[in-house]
Amino acid sequence: MVLRLYNTLTRAKEEFVPLDTSRVRMYVCGPTVYDFAHIGNARPVIVFDVLFRLLRHLYGEAHVEYVRNVTDIDDKINARAQERRGSRAILDAVRELTAETGRIYHEDVAALGCLPPTHEPRATEFVPGMIALIERLVAGGHAYESEGHVLFDVSSNPDYGKLAHRTLDEMIAGARVEIAPYKRGPMDFVLWKPSDETLPGWPSPWGRGRPGWHTECSAMSEALLGETFDIHGGGIDLVFPHHENEIAQSESAHAGRALARVWLHNGFLNAEGEKMSKSLGNFVTIRELLADWPGDVLRLNMLRTHYRQPIDWTVRGMNESWTILERWYEGAEPVASRRMGEPFLDALLDDLNTPQAIAELHRAEPEELAGGLVLLGFSPDPGRIAARPPIPVEEIAHDIEARNSVRKARNFQEADRIREDLATKGILLEDNPDGTTSWEVKR
Ligand code: AMP
Ligand code: ZN
Repeated sequence: MVLRLYNTLTRAKEEFVPLDTSRVRMYVCGPTVYDFAHIGNARPVIVFDVLFRLLRHLYGEAHVEYVRNVTDIDDKINARAQERRGSRAILDAVRELTAETGRIYHEDVAALGCLPPTHEPRATEFVPGMIALIERLVAGGHAYESEGHVLFDVSSNPDYGKLAHRTLDEMIAGARVEIAPYKRGPMDFVLWKPSDETLPGWPSPWGRGRPGWHTECSAMSEALLGETFDIHGGGIDLVFPHHENEIAQSESAHAGRALARVWLHNGFLNAEGEKMSKSLGNFVTIRELLADWPGDVLRLNMLRTHYRQPIDWTVRGMNESWTILERWYEGAEPVASRRMGEPFLDALLDDLNTPQAIAELHRAEPEELAGGLVLLGFSPDPGRIAARPPIPVEEIAHDIEARNSVRKARNFQEADRIREDLATKGILLEDNPDGTTSWEVKR
């Protein structure tokens, strides 16, 4: 059985060969804990949970180590804590915010069927390792101190840009470069920055301060997985600058030895055809969705798209996913089977092709269906997904009326859309010869 994965570093699908089959190691950048996670943030969590489960299936549960960090040192956290601190000390407000947000995150991703990773380091627990890493970079001529900051000198790293596949000049032209008087080169990035007394800070050779985000991940991955590990993952937006900078720091500190062999990135999630953003108001939190939709439905809806493709997240898609799960959970064997169909597993081995694997489940025997569902992180039990709330009759009547009026205006495309929309909710329409429309529930 050969697992093939698309490596952003080489831009090719490659056979996955672990450095050590008795210790397969994966690092995925986790959340910055200052606010509720949105459904886009859930995408890497679910995608890499499926990969974690597949690796455990292939190499044995005891032989896979998955690290997903918690970023609890960050300027967005400080700003949010400042807003809600009231009369409390800033550090207390930060601690309360990160603890509370972290707890909500754990509840949310557990409801989406994700296993806890093997290790979940918090940045605040690894500051000495970050300082040691920066000291090594300064000693090696890869970093310099300037006005209380320590910066990484990208000109010291000829490989800079190898993950993003861009040259330094292209990056300078394309980036919104922050001009700062303490930088030697425009792309140099912060490893350490000063904290005044109102901000979280740690003593260091460069004064009281705090690490930059990129440095946090490099130090935590080194502490838990070693200098070189197998897989590093995250969303596509992290390729540059976050992962490029992690590579530059770690490889410069480790005499050029690779940080990770395979770099995997999930595509972006858009909501109802638009880029999700707070200003658009389509910023759907996992928490809000879980109030109306079972976690398994959200999980299936995520996995129906290949992880490298963009997802358009829609209510319609969630309804379809619910219909599929209802059918599957009725058909699956109640005893969780471990048997899986070969075509199902082959699909997952081919760069985690979950839509193909799901297509194979539609054809699978009940026992193999259950085995496949368990591997994908579902719990095939009709009790897991509550009965779908009945659609109010007035809502159906309203939709039928809307459809009739667009039909009169000869907008048949819209009329079909309304009909299909109702069908995904299990409501089938029938147009009668006398011009009326009747409906029946079919689930
Ligand atoms: P953040 O907390 O913003 O650092 O994001 C945590 C993770 O969620 C990172 O791996 C991001 O790449 C990922 N992410 C953020 N927004 C989206 C989105 N709309 N679609 C897919 N992944 C996302
Ligand atoms: Zn990271």
